[in-house]
Amino acid sequence: MKTIGLLGGMSWESTREYYCLINETVRERLGGLHSAEIIMASVDFAPLSAAMEAGDWDEIRRILIERTRCLISAGIDLLLICTNTMHKFAEEVALAASPAKLIHIGDVAASEARRLGYNKVALMGTRFTMEENFYRDKLRNAGLEVIIPDDDERKWIDNLIFRELCAGIFEDESRRRIAEITARLAENGAEAVVLGCTELPLILTLEESPLPVLDTMALHAAAAVDEVLGGVKQLRGNSL
Ligand code: GLU
Repeated sequence: MKTIGLLGGMSWESTREYYCLINETVRERLGGLHSAEIIMASVDFAPLSAAMEAGDWDEIRRILIERTRCLISAGIDLLLICTNTMHKFAEEVALAASPAKLIHIGDVAASEARRLGYNKVALMGTRFTMEENFYRDKLRNAGLEVIIPDDDERKWIDNLIFRELCAGIFEDESRRRIAEITARLAENGAEAVVLGCTELPLILTLEESPLPVLDTMALHAAAAVDEVLGGVKQLRGNSL
């Protein structure tokens, strides 16, 4: 079985979900005691988030590339960066990861949105993901119209991500507010909301969302399993 590399810890609240989702899906598909071959590099998120705050992106790039090289020497076949925001460095990480394949979370989100027939989607994530082009372009290049929350809402969501969700704090009040923002984006014509932050699905679930949800973390994890198992679905019960 191919080995999945996880570049995680950003934050570990969502990285542990990746670990569970990937293993659960491999068990569902192969049965028995099968589980995924995974090697993880999990970083200390505090210096990274301080560097983001300070705009020190060179330091972030350096850490991501250095951790990627560790994963490559450990023998991974494919790589997931377990955060949307850090896909700001997707091209450089992909180069460092070669010949292992980087699965881009934005590509996976875009192709699922198209598969489901959406034309106009709302994007929520950190301020970097919502405001810069590195992520929105992935969606736009797939032919999607992308709308984002207004200034105040973006500030509130960014704070929610860094001050609460990444710190393991999940408040009902925040759950209500994020659903309200989603409802407003629906009024502006969004047909679905792209949860472009891997912690957002932990607070806005499909059941509570006024719009259909594109859970980028779950889609990313599923894409990795598809890449690893390819056409081996029929081997359920066999031991590989
Ligand atoms: N996990 C988040 C994301 O998907 C935010 C943390 C980060 O800045 O990496 O963007």
